Amino acid sequence: MAEIQLKSLAHSYSKNPAGPEDYAIRQMSHVWHKGGAYALLGPSGCGKSTMLNIISGLLAPSEGDVLFDNVRVNELSPKDRNIAQVFQFPVIYDSMTVYDNLAFPLRNAGQPKAKIKVKVEEIAAILELEPVLHKKAKGLTADEKQKVSMGRGLVRDDVSAILFDEPLTVIDPQLKWKLRRKLKQIHEQFNITMVYVTHDQLEASTFADKIAVMYGGQIVQFGTPRELFESPNHTFVGYFIGSPGMNLVEVSREDGGVRFDDTFVPLSETLCDHIERVGSSNLKLGIRPEFIQVTDHASDDTHECAVRDVEDLGTYKIVTLMLGDRVIKARVSEDQDTEAATLHVAFPRQWLKLYIDEYLVEEQAE
Ligand code: ADP
Ligand code: MG
Repeated sequence: MAEIQLKSLAHSYSKNPAGPEDYAIRQMSHVWHKGGAYALLGPSGCGKSTMLNIISGLLAPSEGDVLFDNVRVNELSPKDRNIAQVFQFPVIYDSMTVYDNLAFPLRNAGQPKAKIKVKVEEIAAILELEPVLHKKAKGLTADEKQKVSMGRGLVRDDVSAILFDEPLTVIDPQLKWKLRRKLKQIHEQFNITMVYVTHDQLEASTFADKIAVMYGGQIVQFGTPRELFESPNHTFVGYFIGSPGMNLVEVSREDGGVRFDDTFVPLSETLCDHIERVGSSNLKLGIRPEFIQVTDHASDDTHECAVRDVEDLGTYKIVTLMLGDRVIKARVSEDQDTEAATLHVAFPRQWLKLYIDEYLVEEQAE
């Protein structure tokens, strides 16, 4: 396994890119550490597959370097990079048995027969492919075919990394959950560097120790699920992670804080100085629905809101509120009374985040 470093990487599918919008990957650097279980999470079209294909060598980047353990591999073929890649749709040999499909990468690597048998049987057991091990791949169900495809990626434990590109898309939802657990189990057992691409936050957080959130061709945050939740580094992370996502309100600068409509929010001197220095008018406040305090009585630090909708989700409720003419969402416990036409909300300072030009400004930022 290897540490994979992307250095000043950029990629455009266009021969003559006119501007940033012509880049599928906008210049970025990133390190996937050795042995980590990572997710690459982002919406469709943000550049996830492009990045994986650049790592595996299927695609040559327009700019920048790919380094495995500090050695530049740009010129190496996919085979020489020793990467296993699992795609969205099964890549298997229909005319071969499941056993031979799984054995294929090992035979290619010149491994001895006895070792191949042990390894194939081990992976077949984990993926529960034993009952079909000696059947031709052609007759398998779509789920089984994708399991074989994944198995082909997983049989070799001498690879630099295994890259999964939305591998569970075609899999039945119930089996999905099980396979994700299995992947995690395989990672714990063999400690291979794994990068798992998905557009599903639940899938990302159940598989990965650390998640890279990709947006507009760049990784905008790399952190644990908790870090992404508690401290989104970019408004996109706030909006994309969580259900519903972070409330984001455009605000304008004022002495000692920021304002939206009739609401003035005081900010620390550090943040005020920062706003002043950057001089941008793209200012937003963000707070997650989970951190908004909702009460039925007004106090000094609360703002009155009209209740527009209450959605009861069993163990909690999502309340949609109008703060002036802004819609905000708060998550409250199921036993909280939400019958009133107006409620009062408070924004605990600790959970109120300031974004300038879409990026988080930390309290301690200097
Ligand atoms: P994702 O995997 O996150 O959905 P992709 O990496 O496939 O995103 O695509 C990123 C961007 O590059 C998209 O705008 C997509 O349309 C474009 N793109 C992807 N593959 C090609 C290609 N072969 N030729 C031209 N444009 C492409
Ligand atoms: Mg893709």
